[in-house]
Amino acid sequence: TTCPYCGVGCNLELHIKDDYIYRVTSPFDSIVNHGNLCVKGRFGYDFIYHPNRVTAPLIRRALQKPGTRTQAFDLSEWRVTSWEEALDYVAERLVEIYRREGSPGLATYLCAKATNEDNYLLQKMFRALFRTNNIDHCTRLCHAGSVVALQMAIGSSAMSNTAAEVIHNDVFIITGSNTAETHPIIALQMKAAVEKHGARLIVVDPRRIEMVDYAVLWLPEKPGTDVPVFSAMAHVILKEKLYNEQFIRERTEGFAEFTQSMEKFTPEYAEAISGVDRNLIVEAARMYASAKNAAIYWALGIPEHSHGTDNAMSLIHLALLTGHIGRKGSGLNPLRGQNNVQGASDSGAMPWHYPGYMRVDEPANAAKWEKAWNVEPGGLNQQLGLTTTEIISAIGAGGVHAIYMMGENPMMSEPNLNHIRQQLEQLEFLVAQDLFINESGAFADVFLPAVSWAEKDGTFTNTDRRVQRVRKAIEPRGQSRPDWQIICDLAQRIEFRLGRPNSAYWGYSHPSEVLEEMGSLVPEYRGVKYSRLEKEGLQTPVWDDQHPGTPFLFTDSFPRGRGKFHPLEYRPAVEMPDDEYPFILTTGRVLEHWHGGTLTRNSKLDDLYPEALVEVHPADAARLKIINGQAVRVSSRRGSIVLRANVTHKTTMGVVFISFHFAEAAANLLTIDALDPQAKIPEYKACAVRLTPAREEELPREEPVTVRGRY
Ligand code: SF4
Repeated sequence: TTCPYCGVGCNLELHIKDDYIYRVTSPFDSIVNHGNLCVKGRFGYDFIYHPNRVTAPLIRRALQKPGTRTQAFDLSEWRVTSWEEALDYVAERLVEIYRREGSPGLATYLCAKATNEDNYLLQKMFRALFRTNNIDHCTRLCHAGSVVALQMAIGSSAMSNTAAEVIHNDVFIITGSNTAETHPIIALQMKAAVEKHGARLIVVDPRRIEMVDYAVLWLPEKPGTDVPVFSAMAHVILKEKLYNEQFIRERTEGFAEFTQSMEKFTPEYAEAISGVDRNLIVEAARMYASAKNAAIYWALGIPEHSHGTDNAMSLIHLALLTGHIGRKGSGLNPLRGQNNVQGASDSGAMPWHYPGYMRVDEPANAAKWEKAWNVEPGGLNQQLGLTTTEIISAIGAGGVHAIYMMGENPMMSEPNLNHIRQQLEQLEFLVAQDLFINESGAFADVFLPAVSWAEKDGTFTNTDRRVQRVRKAIEPRGQSRPDWQIICDLAQRIEFRLGRPNSAYWGYSHPSEVLEEMGSLVPEYRGVKYSRLEKEGLQTPVWDDQHPGTPFLFTDSFPRGRGKFHPLEYRPAVEMPDDEYPFILTTGRVLEHWHGGTLTRNSKLDDLYPEALVEVHPADAARLKIINGQAVRVSSRRGSIVLRANVTHKTTMGVVFISFHFAEAAANLLTIDALDPQAKIPEYKACAVRLTPAREEELPREEPVTVRGRY
């Protein structure tokens, strides 16, 4: 099967006795990871058996009303019910709200942890039955800026190359990615590229991450100054005529206006804004431009800004200028975070696109899906839906009244959590479909127990577009059920109540039929069949049943035809440090944990990294009289948390780092909900905070907030 954590998509062998997984290994001939696994893949499976897992449908005892909705972590506040009652109740309430409020009244969060098939079906249910595009998932909170920029510039948002091609790079840039902790197996391949194949690595990052040890150049920029740094590299490439004239002439457009917009981005100007030595910028530009094969790898440090689309665009420009794209070992590679964020996006888990990135506001696309889902002509909603953050903001009269949440946890993952809490309290109806009652599920009216990846069949699509099998290895715990089955059962109940029984098809006997339905309409998945995925998966696009898959993209052209340069301006972060809040907070992941912690904090991984830490540079710590391990209060204009200091050179002066896994010291209580205007992604990577020493007693004592007891 395939690892349920990150987008690398490592292949796993589950060792099972008496329906119990007791060990996880990986075969040496596995194409993605060659037998290597990180700590999460190897040891992070025991959440399946955690006593906090809920394995029976639950309904809240007390009726929750808008404005008085509360969180229920205690099982006594819920009653166990049958699947029939739970699904009937959910169908009844959703249809009632739909009849009263219309399509805008409903929204759903899909899930990058769930399979392609689960995501395809839930978006189908909301589009075909409730006629709403208020459908989104956590890609909005991670790579939305990259997706928008890549779509604007080349018409495709996936990684252009296979991750393992890094050994064919002569030069590669890592930026905004702590690769050794967030994509550890790709980091292994990168280290091998440097040590065994002579590749030269340039790291552009505010933190002294592990990959800096392997780099020939480190450009320690201030958070949010990517546009000046990368545009200054473009400036140098233009001034020194290091660009690829033939590539620009034959494969791009907009070069003249772009060249003009780069005029002011001198290395001196970039140094003044970013703090990066101008000579390093010049050296990096020359090294990248003069390489035979060069690639750029980036993660959330680039798009998670109020100017995230511009940041990603500044990287794309470098590839278009030099022609470092469209070959093995040359390309643009946004490293996707979740195990199936690429697949969930491909499957239509987004408010502006049907599966296959077909715009919902194109009548021809709507007509295609109306036919497939047996919806009357003109029946599908052609208005762009709300994004994750907009859904929460729209809760209230005339806006969103009900949310169906599959595996997401906005009470941990959204910025400015105090605002999210206030909004969820106003909601009329909330359904949570998950394994645990997490911080968001605790607000729900109904809890539908889903299964883990080891208890169901399906497919995940990893960061380099490889569709791989997920296999049912053990029986579902208790009464829990696969997401795809829950959705199909619920959809039929909704159809019946809407007076449209048996309109769309929900009678699938296996997820393979769901993937075939999707592939019949999404050309890139047309040749992806379960029978072809038995051994090692296929990289999309797979145009037909004989097509071998596509390791790297854009050999001859881009999906939009010519690659397009877009003139850029520098815009600073919305909230800059000042006398009151003098530090920049940047957030991210650590190796041992996963996102909101729903899985890893209910696993023995939590013993390896049991509490939240704030990374502070030694010089800043000395000035504030903070010692390593001391309790510290970190405050922003939106909230305040207390956690221990980790005094380290890993962060730069004036910048502090907190991971976002810990509910009891939630980094997102501090972050700002400023959005990128195009991608609507929040600015997680830069806001202003203040640090003050705290007393030991102020440290949070609670266990992770989850339900005690087991059904
Ligand atoms: Fe799983 Fe990612 Fe670790 Fe591989 S690198 S084992 S996919 S978490």
